[in-house]
Amino acid sequence: MKTIAVIGGGITGVTTAYALARRGFSVTLFEKQRYAAMETSFANGGQLSASNAEVWTHWSTIVKGLKWMLKSDAPLLLNPKPSWHKVSWFAQFLAAIPHYEKNTVETARLAVAAREHLFSWAEQEGIDFDLKKQGILHIYRDRAGFEHAGRVSQLLAQGGLERRAVTPEEMHAIEPTLSGN
Ligand SMILES: Cc1cc2nc3c(=O)[nH]c(=O)nc-3n(C[C@H](O)[C@H](O)[C@H](O)COP(=O)(O)OP(=O)(O)OC[C@H]3O[C@@H](n4cnc5c(N)ncnc54)[C@H](O)[C@@H]3O)c2cc1C
Repeated sequence: MKTIAVIGGGITGVTTAYALARRGFSVTLFEKQRYAAMETSFANGGQLSASNAEVWTHWSTIVKGLKWMLKSDAPLLLNPKPSWHKVSWFAQFLAAIPHYEKNTVETARLAVAAREHLFSWAEQEGIDFDLKKQGILHIYRDRAGFEHAGRVSQLLAQGGLERRAVTPEEMHAIEPTLSGN
């Protein structure tokens, strides 16, 4: 029997190893930390969400990133010290910008498929983890952000994901603890 080595025990490695094992392969998962999921997969937002599939390779991300560099509470900070790895990463980021739409559609398709696998594996293995399927409410605080989201929703729809705009009344019905207008 073929044995496959999977390197890295985050969500990607663990699920890949699991899928291969289910197909009958002998799999060895190598993880450099003491336990699985101790790096990026550690204590993330816990959203099994396909609706964040919009890729970041867009000029607006660069503008946002530059503005964040001046904010102490930015959600993402970039160390401006140059390195070869950073320069080549940025070159790849810029080269992917023309493929923003196609990549967003494909990422949505992949995310929908991945979510279905996770749901069905959890059911088959009897893993109970407080799964909620009400959907996710995305809040935009200005018109430009809201209108951009509308265009993204059209791309997500091409990838098989439904995301729709709701009125303030619907928002309150979905999440009664929300206040304000
Ligand atoms: C704050 C935050 C919140 C997030 N929230 C969400 C969310 O709600 N929903 C969502 O879907 N995504 C979320 N994400 C994104 C998601 O967490 C990552 O995309 C995902 O965890 C990446 O998983 P990974 O397996 O690719 O990488 P990692 O989890 O980083 O796994 C890579 C593993 O490889 C190991 N490794 C590296 N080199 C070697 C080596 N040479 N030998 C052996 N092992 C090695 C590392 O130790 C690590 O365990 C969030 C991310 C962050 C940072």
